[in-house]
Amino acid sequence: MSYQAIVAPEAASPATLRELSDSDLPEGDVTVAVSHSSLNYKDGLAVTATGKVIRSYPMVCGVDLAGVVESSDSPRWSAGDEVLATGWGLGESHPGGFTQRQRVRAEWLTARPAAFSLAQCMAIGTAGLTAMLCVLALERAGLEPQEGAQVLVTGAGGGVGGVAVALLAGLGHSVAAATGREQLHEYLRSLGASSIVARSELDQPGRPLGSERWAGAIDSVGGQTLASVLAQIRYRGAVAACGLAGGADLPATVLPFILRGVSLLGVDSVMCPSELRQTAWSRLERDLPAERLDAITTVGTLESVPELAGELLAGRVRGRVVIETAAG
Ligand code: NDP
Repeated sequence: MSYQAIVAPEAASPATLRELSDSDLPEGDVTVAVSHSSLNYKDGLAVTATGKVIRSYPMVCGVDLAGVVESSDSPRWSAGDEVLATGWGLGESHPGGFTQRQRVRAEWLTARPAAFSLAQCMAIGTAGLTAMLCVLALERAGLEPQEGAQVLVTGAGGGVGGVAVALLAGLGHSVAAATGREQLHEYLRSLGASSIVARSELDQPGRPLGSERWAGAIDSVGGQTLASVLAQIRYRGAVAACGLAGGADLPATVLPFILRGVSLLGVDSVMCPSELRQTAWSRLERDLPAERLDAITTVGTLESVPELAGELLAGRVRGRVVIETAAG
């Protein structure tokens, strides 16, 4: 049976839409008829051959997938089950989700959470799961909604940022959203942000310790932005760091850690253990308001992935993009 997929042929060559057949399916015990995927920052890098994301070629891109089990050699899954997978090397070391069919390992799959459709699962996808993992990390560090305490989200116009704003606001936090795009202020307020911070306030070098503005923060930007955020965290507050949209360096000092007891919490969604994923998906079902998820989401097709990947890296995509895989 033939099917379509977005394939990166070799290093330094952008990915394009190709026709594949059964013999192209990789090893694995479950074959999934993929109905939806989603576009993440890492996919932007992989599809445009901008960053070193892909470990072997040719590679079907896409770090997320959702669909219906077509056949299974594993007792865990049966034909007809609705499932999703995020991370685990999909689109990096194992063929990924920008395709109409994929074969994966049984233990990478999660049953579709009852509260979400397959499309909504992908509206959440890696970025949304990561936002939830950041919230869980902050909660483990003691963050709870409090009068007068604000939580900052950087890169708020992006995928991680949008879900983080909606989640934190839904949980009762007062949320400040940092963005470089003035045209997104109204959108961010509609997701629940109570104040907006200009990106330019954070991406320039400042004092190693600033005034204590934030009880906690979710940072998907890294670089100088993360250093500035650390310098503005309240006594014993915490930052969940998950991204590098603004840079992989960290030009910070140890002063926030040793004088204010600030915690820097690393968050990874790719190899995140299954039990923690289950907890995160359960919390997303409970805490992510459906209408806000819909407000974050736009839809693209497999054909549109190469163009959308370029738009995302150029900072022109808002929130999350679900990719419908059905042939047009
Ligand atoms: P998006 O492209 O959707 O969002 C990134 C946002 O960051 C942009 O919308 C923009 O927000 C802001 N931004 C972009 N460039 C810069 C810059 N130079 N300086 C400051 N801000 C900038 O990406 P995602 O939300 O999908 O991912 C965000 C980051 O998180 C990426 O680095 C990604 O690799 C990482 N990530 C990590 C995961 C993990 O497991 N640790 C999982 C998922 C993502 P605005 O326009 O509002 O300023």
